[in-house]
Amino acid sequence: MIGLISATAAGAAARDRLAAAWPDRVRVYDGPVGDGVRRAFAECEQLVCFLAAGAVVRLVAPLLGDKAADPGVVCVDEAGRFAVPLVGGHGGGANELAREIGELLGAEPVVTTATDAVGIPGLDTLGLPVEGDVAGVSRALLDGEPVALRAEVNWPLPPLRTGPEGAYTLRVTDRLTEPARHEAVLRPPTLVVGVGASAGVPVDEVLALVGDALAEAGLSAASVAELATVDAKSAEPGLVGAAARLGVPLVTHPAPALAAVAVPNPSDAPLAAVGTPSVAEAAALAGGGELLVPKRKSRRADGRPAMATCAVVRRPGRGRLAVVGLGPGARDLLTPRAKAELRRASVLVGLDQYVDQIRDLLRPGTRVLESGLGAEEERARTAVEEARGGRAVALIGSGDAGVYAMASPALAEASDDIDVIGVPGVTAALAAAAVLGAPLGHDHVSISLSDLHTPWEVIERRVRAAAEADLVVTFYNPRSRGRDWQLPGALAVLAGHRAPATPVGVVRNVSRPDESVRLTTLEALDPATVDMMTVVTVGNTATRDIAGRMVTPRGYRWQEGAR
Ligand code: SAH
Repeated sequence: MIGLISATAAGAAARDRLAAAWPDRVRVYDGPVGDGVRRAFAECEQLVCFLAAGAVVRLVAPLLGDKAADPGVVCVDEAGRFAVPLVGGHGGGANELAREIGELLGAEPVVTTATDAVGIPGLDTLGLPVEGDVAGVSRALLDGEPVALRAEVNWPLPPLRTGPEGAYTLRVTDRLTEPARHEAVLRPPTLVVGVGASAGVPVDEVLALVGDALAEAGLSAASVAELATVDAKSAEPGLVGAAARLGVPLVTHPAPALAAVAVPNPSDAPLAAVGTPSVAEAAALAGGGELLVPKRKSRRADGRPAMATCAVVRRPGRGRLAVVGLGPGARDLLTPRAKAELRRASVLVGLDQYVDQIRDLLRPGTRVLESGLGAEEERARTAVEEARGGRAVALIGSGDAGVYAMASPALAEASDDIDVIGVPGVTAALAAAAVLGAPLGHDHVSISLSDLHTPWEVIERRVRAAAEADLVVTFYNPRSRGRDWQLPGALAVLAGHRAPATPVGVVRNVSRPDESVRLTTLEALDPATVDMMTVVTVGNTATRDIAGRMVTPRGYRWQEGAR
């Protein structure tokens, strides 16, 4: 329970917002503030005081006892601008609570414990099941105490500041184990359970079979990644229900694919029924890996024939490649998902100037592999190789990393033995459009004028097609010192199909501190004002300059009528 204490009307208003948002978590202490704090301190796990920090310090000081047992105390100022964890930042959860309050009230969490400021992850934020002394090991990591890492399976982890030994241990395993004192156990999703079933198999029969197989092999159900079977069983209620109860997907494979998998225990029955000599073992082994539990059958209390089979495989560790778009520059145009992926990675690969854009977000211990302009292929190869080594890698690019950027060279290198996660970013074209007005209101294209990798004839043909199709065009890589004739050439092609007064937006360094925006026309544009930090957006025949904004109508009839 979180105790809420306030003194003034403004404080009470903020308090009521928390109370409304978290009805089941909070208790309001009315009446004299001193009494409220003392009662809440005795009764609650956490306190939020809408009071001056000094007042809270004086009230709480005489009550403080043991760091491990005292409640966490967060102080929020009258105006609701700051949420300050005063005591119990880690043990009492006050740092986390201050962050939650910050989200809710729009307040800045003022976290003063050093280790949180450097951003080492709590174990519960990794997206993996975790057991044992989670709080203790997280705190030890945060406090910089030595934590031994015992990884029994290879899994791409974010950078954790672990050491060779210490009172605390972090184990990464799919084995059934009672966590020791001061030990936390991370459960990576390494196990694939192949299942075969006769029509009408009860959910409980499948669950009992899978549970026994895992338990007897000493494996943890928390590490099961998926149930796998043959396509023909994709809607079998017993399997669908068992997967749902286990909280994992039911993945299915075509019978011919399963028939091609070499298995130790093939048999004739499934061959006749579904067209493959093995379902459980073959489905479990379909993605490769080590067979830990060969095919076994369910046991039925009524002595009738078994209706389910299962087999368990440990998948080989898979590296993780996140391809992350950073947006055009401004920090608030970097998506929260991109930020999370940057902090999830233990290896970061990118162009040095993009690395500089986000260096402060990286977790300590992140290995940064930065390179200069032009080393695209090498960067792509490095990122993929690092991921193949089983690591968590982030490959970054400005704007969207798939647009004239690293995603395609990287994925051209990558085989299916790594997981790839794409995080979209705000492109330069979109950011520029937003400051220009609404130039992309109807069909549009982007065309790069860089003829380093594309012959000019191809580029020109595309510009001509865009001109003929009356598409709004955004030019990327429009002009550099060595490439000065391409932009005038492309504009001349467009001018063959559009009026001289067609609006053209020229946006340089969009969303960066030296952003500049100009709205001009096809005939008035001076190419010399354009460089490689710029995108140029040329309107179609309907685009207008309206009140200084570039607007391309959507072509609705009611809009046509209004003109
Ligand atoms: N992946 C990027 C594009 C990289 S190509 C994206 O999705 O936006 C590099 C070109 O993008 C530059 O030559 C320039 O034309 C454009 N560009 C990138 N960032 C920009 C910015 N902040 N302002 C204007 N143009 C930008």
